[in-house]
Amino acid sequence: ESTRELLLSRIRDVADYPKPGVMFKDITPLLADPVAFTALTDSLAELCLRHGATKIVGLEARGFILAAPVAIRAGLGFVPVRKAGKLPGATLSQAYELEYGTAEIEIHAEDLSADDRIMVIDDVLATGGTAGASLELIRRAGAQVAGVAVLMELGFLAGRARLEENLRGAPLEAL
Ligand code: IMP
Repeated sequence: ESTRELLLSRIRDVADYPKPGVMFKDITPLLADPVAFTALTDSLAELCLRHGATKIVGLEARGFILAAPVAIRAGLGFVPVRKAGKLPGATLSQAYELEYGTAEIEIHAEDLSADDRIMVIDDVLATGGTAGASLELIRRAGAQVAGVAVLMELGFLAGRARLEENLRGAPLEAL
């Protein structure tokens, strides 16, 4: 069984969640399987090192679950991007468009330096809005972008195209 097939087999489709018409990709069965979870974190860690990352940024909330073990596995530091109002120190904030309304995410800029190359990790790339905003935060903090790595890309939402201007040539890797 290939890693891709193993990971796919552990993702559950939940219809009409969180609202009617949405097919939610649920990764909790994957997290509950130690073989699949290890394969996922090993694969993401390998991508981080291949692209020369020096630090990992994880996106709240499911991104944290993946990014922390990936950081340990790759021997790199972990920096959280959180929803507005959750970080206690001096933060940079970035607003971005949702389907209805806007959202805002924040980072502790002092945890990134000009020498850092950052790999952003999340579970799902949907519209690309969250990942795009996180790349803006990383650049505004003065660090470089190594890329974005996700478990899954929902191709029909065209997040890859939306992210293109934020990536500026950096790779988007979807397992
Ligand atoms: P985007 O900003 O539209 O790309 O949405 C991405 C964010 O929404 C990520 O942080 C994901 O965790 C979450 N997300 C969107 N769709 C799904 C899904 O089907 N399953 C799990 N998370 C999702």
